[in-house]
Amino acid sequence: MRSYNFGKGCKVELHGHGKPIMEIVQEKVAEMELKHKEDAFYLADLGDVVKKYEKWSELLPRVEPFYAVKCNPDLPVLKLLAHLGAGFDCASKDEIAKVLKFGVPTSKIIYANPCKQNAFIRYAAKQDVQMMTFDNEAELYKVKAAFPNARLVLRILPPANFKVQCELGNKFGCHPKDARALLMKALELDLNVIGISFHCGSGVGEAAAFSAAVEASAEVFDIGQSLGFDFDLLDIGGGFPGHAGGAISFEEVAEVLNDALNKYFPPKRNVRIIGEPGRYFVSSAFNLTVSIIAKRMVATDAKAVALERSEEPAFMYYVNDGVYGSFNCLLYDHAKVEASLVNAPVNAMEFRTSIWGPTCDGLDQILKEVRLPELCVGDYLNFPNMGAYTVAAGTTFNGMPRPEMFYHCSENVWCHLFPDALKAKGPGRLTGKIPFLKAGHDLDKVEHERVPPSPVVLLDADEDAFFN
Ligand SMILES: *Cc1c(COP(=O)(O)O)cnc(C)c1O
Repeated sequence: MRSYNFGKGCKVELHGHGKPIMEIVQEKVAEMELKHKEDAFYLADLGDVVKKYEKWSELLPRVEPFYAVKCNPDLPVLKLLAHLGAGFDCASKDEIAKVLKFGVPTSKIIYANPCKQNAFIRYAAKQDVQMMTFDNEAELYKVKAAFPNARLVLRILPPANFKVQCELGNKFGCHPKDARALLMKALELDLNVIGISFHCGSGVGEAAAFSAAVEASAEVFDIGQSLGFDFDLLDIGGGFPGHAGGAISFEEVAEVLNDALNKYFPPKRNVRIIGEPGRYFVSSAFNLTVSIIAKRMVATDAKAVALERSEEPAFMYYVNDGVYGSFNCLLYDHAKVEASLVNAPVNAMEFRTSIWGPTCDGLDQILKEVRLPELCVGDYLNFPNMGAYTVAAGTTFNGMPRPEMFYHCSENVWCHLFPDALKAKGPGRLTGKIPFLKAGHDLDKVEHERVPPSPVVLLDADEDAFFN
């Protein structure tokens, strides 16, 4: 298989356009078996991230995406998004440092944590990362002391009567009725507030949450303008769906959002609009495959056992990633995961099955009850849509290793993004239609004098290290 070096530790395997993910998984499993390895591994499809970027540019052309690094700080993903021209939402010194290493201009970074450590504000000042959010008075005093020239964005609490996967309003956001007083404090301190942000919550379940929040923002915009602020930034936060088959589609959200933006922030109002998608960019790109390391057959019904009646058994499988690793998403992200077999037996009878992580904790359960054919130790299970809030907070509790990470991409997409990947291959062999995308920031077409175009960074030689 052809591959391309995308920086230290990241070899991108290129494959034919449209090759099904399960085929790629099966090949990787065969490779693992050949090496007598039974480790869990990720297959990260960088082409999927590119597709998401293209789709965003197409469906939300007025909104610049600032990827929320916390969702998955995987370096090749950050590097790729930087190359495409995305901005970044960072919440700490470390996250800011990470994206600065990729040459991202500071105008494309927002420090979007309303409650920041002083030393981190000083770091942002030193690096000239000017945009940062706040939602309380104490934060204003801190910013006044550490970075008086910061460009502040007031994070408001959006209307909460909508379904979300993870609530955030319990922790952040100034209630719109308190916005006037807080903005007056900013005026008194002679601070520069440039606009409004909100975050509807992660994994929004109803598109109307976005339009309601845009409307609430417009009201606070008016308050700011009546106080004499020259607001020109609206940050619509994150919460966009990360894969098809969720409660709502990205298309629905985009439609509702565009209507609201055009109504409350029409282009002639000259407001720069940014968003902070996390899940959206990475969820579907990452596929996790785990190996069954142990197995137990149990009776399903104690009464039947006592009466020595034969009954259908149930199976417990122990796999080599769990809630202390990638499946922390079950606890922190309230995620639902779905297992499928890598090599499915045909017409096999199905049994009650539970799936457990590898640690010694009884909490470490991945699926409580599913129906699967009987499997063997050494078989693999596959979990799609595992890119958001998985690797980011995984630990090595109990000495359990983190899964290996493999990267892949459709050859067409990759060669279009990085034409020198094509050169190595000799002329005339690229087949199929070259898809959609353009390297560089598509959104540069939107008029924002303040935003310098992203430099094309990062195309690299083999030695190129992520950190040097
Ligand atoms: C977590 C977070 C995001 C990303 O949220 P998603 O639901 O993953 O899109 C964006 N902005 C802020 C401030 C966040 O805390």
